Amino acid sequence: MAQSEKAQNLAEPAHPNPLAELKSWDKSIEAQIFQKWEKDGIGRFNVDSSKPLFVIDTPPPYPSGRPWHVGGASHYSEIDMIARSARMRGFEVLFPLGLDRNGLPVELYTEKKYGVSIKTTPREKFLQLCKVALDDLEQEMLQTFKLMGLSGNYEQKYRTDEEPYRALTQSTFISQWKAGRIYEGTRPSNYCIDCGTTIADAEIIYDELPTKFAFFKFRIRGEKDSFIPIASTRSELICSCQAVIVNPEDERYKPLIGKTALVPIYNREVPIVGHNSARPEFGTGALMVCSYGDYHDVQLFRELNLKEIIAIGDSGRMLPIAGKELEGLRIKQARTKMIELLQASGVLDKVEEIQHRTPLCERSRTPIEIIPMDEYYLRVVDVKPKLEQIAKSLKFHPEMHRGILLNWIEVALDWPISRRRFYGTEVPVWHCIKCEEPYLPPPGPYYQPWRNPPPPGAKCACGSIEFKGDVRTFDTWMDSSISALYITKYARDQSFHEKTYPTMIRPQGKDIIRTWLHYSILRCYQITGKVPWEHVWVTGWGLDEKGERMSKSKGNVIDPILMLNRYGAENFRLWIASEVSVGSDYTCSEQKIASPGKFLTKIWNISRFIAGFENPAREPDYEDLSPSDRWILAELSRLAEECLAGYEDYNFFIPANKIRDFTWNVFAAHYVELAKGRAYGTGFNDKEIMSARFTLRECLKTILLLLAPICPFITEALWLKIYSDQSIHKQMFPDPRKWSQEYLKHEKTILDFNSLVWNEKKARGLSLKGSVQIPIPSELEAFAMDLKTMHNLTIG
Ligand SMILES: [Zn+2]
Ligand SMILES: [Zn+2]
Repeated sequence: MAQSEKAQNLAEPAHPNPLAELKSWDKSIEAQIFQKWEKDGIGRFNVDSSKPLFVIDTPPPYPSGRPWHVGGASHYSEIDMIARSARMRGFEVLFPLGLDRNGLPVELYTEKKYGVSIKTTPREKFLQLCKVALDDLEQEMLQTFKLMGLSGNYEQKYRTDEEPYRALTQSTFISQWKAGRIYEGTRPSNYCIDCGTTIADAEIIYDELPTKFAFFKFRIRGEKDSFIPIASTRSELICSCQAVIVNPEDERYKPLIGKTALVPIYNREVPIVGHNSARPEFGTGALMVCSYGDYHDVQLFRELNLKEIIAIGDSGRMLPIAGKELEGLRIKQARTKMIELLQASGVLDKVEEIQHRTPLCERSRTPIEIIPMDEYYLRVVDVKPKLEQIAKSLKFHPEMHRGILLNWIEVALDWPISRRRFYGTEVPVWHCIKCEEPYLPPPGPYYQPWRNPPPPGAKCACGSIEFKGDVRTFDTWMDSSISALYITKYARDQSFHEKTYPTMIRPQGKDIIRTWLHYSILRCYQITGKVPWEHVWVTGWGLDEKGERMSKSKGNVIDPILMLNRYGAENFRLWIASEVSVGSDYTCSEQKIASPGKFLTKIWNISRFIAGFENPAREPDYEDLSPSDRWILAELSRLAEECLAGYEDYNFFIPANKIRDFTWNVFAAHYVELAKGRAYGTGFNDKEIMSARFTLRECLKTILLLLAPICPFITEALWLKIYSDQSIHKQMFPDPRKWSQEYLKHEKTILDFNSLVWNEKKARGLSLKGSVQIPIPSELEAFAMDLKTMHNLTIG
């Protein structure tokens, strides 16, 4: 029989029990407790505190109207554990709660909710709709925060679309512009046709998608019946072909290098060039170079100095240059049409259906087109060595995720920061109507160039005073990358900022290392010259039971609000903390989320039992403690040590599992049984009785304190009933050095002997209370009295 399953006989002692009325843990108590915390000003932060400060750069979530992912709720529950454990480690904690209210997700939600399109709705009207939609979503989000028990600073929550925030984004842009860190340029950009905007490399994901791989022929000029075979997944781009490349080592094509090929259908002449990047084993080994089928094309156009021909418009339709047959068609239609044309003109060899690794927009999953767009860029490439140095200096939890950042820094290009959208921070630039030179206003206020003229007195170097406002907004990461500056009141309250920045910790998901983490380091460092945090804490993904990413389309999403309502925050929090070591992916299911309920019941039952004993008037001296009590206090001391190490590493997996193991398998199964007889008192002297009662209470107290950051509700309820009228969340963690660990040496002998007796009784068909004759080993002589009582041993 597993000890954890063994039913315990915890009879009610005679002392008036503060938990008499509360027979079991009930999740409805959570709401009452949260109300009390709110009244007490949960999460309030005093910057002038004498304690060391601990500032969390909380990720501001998107209120985008999608059902919040169970992974999101787990993530924020664990951030709350960071806050609560830091308080109990003696810090004054700023746990800001922000909402990221800028950008595409908000716009897409608004379009859907009100059945409008950004393309046909006046800007002013569209912004108004976004705001209304956001306010509703925000209320829902804040309710969920409270449901989860987040001890954040509700009194000072912030929004990335509030004026001071947007003004800060604009000021930092202006100062980075002045420092020469930003430039405007037309470059082939990743463009999402559905989102209608340029997107950054960091926002691109890849997937294998089916596509048509066409094999066709280019004729060689001046040679009858001489062809070069081409294979391509982008046949609709033939009109933009400016060269054919072959590998100079490829014997098949070597003689053709330097000759001229004729583009089929269009009959334009293009050179055949030798280039090492043509892979003989891929397709036919000869590649047509078009503007732009992929990043390889971009690179070749630059390298071979080719003139680009733009075939696809930003609406995602073919432009007139593609010819009458293709003009106006969508990309996929155009591909099919072109294959028909190639067939009709007799140059098509075959078409294969293949799976092709395709770059997609992370948000809409639309294949990315590469289109030259005029955008603002923040320089990244020239500061890579510094970024790398910072990435190496940060303390990562867990260490394994540092690699993702370092790998990204290595390949990152300059960051396109402007977007062709409405609901975002406006690019604070006007252009001179006469000479088109940009005009940047002084930093400080919030500017809306699409709506307002530049500040009075604005004058271009050419003498003109007429300007046209830029209509673009920023990539939302421009806002969220300076969250560490905003929460520390950069440029608004110098003294507050100096005390709170750099902050202590950046918690975030691993899916936004390339974006949020990378951009935050880049921006905060460039603006302040300081690294924004000391620690970076990165969680993994919440996957479904089969280990797949959850998504609406797969129908495997678990709604966290439903789970919180059904099982309570305490269950949910204990589940995520026990489930996985920080940073690893984990699987979720309703059954898993429900299961910690058993342990909460166990804690409650043990507490009711212990609360029934009178509290000794004073703490006994160590010399007066019985050996069993010294043993469990040694165990307790080791438990505290291990839990604190876990908390210091922000790895809640350690305390969650250690506490559960200790409480269930050692404390309840062995110690409570050993000490019960003395605690009840009959047949023992005062010293022995008080030693047991004190130790039981001391153990429970320590367990509750250690568990409080993970399970803030049940521990608070029990603490207030049993120990103090002051919140458990205002206490310090127990000192692991309080009790000697000397008696740990008896652990194995005690546990083994108990198991031996239990097994023996089971084998003989005796009940646990049944009397049995088993000699006590000499090493356990000191524990004989408790062992005899516990097992009802008769002396042979
Ligand atoms: Zn998109
Ligand atoms: Zn001018």
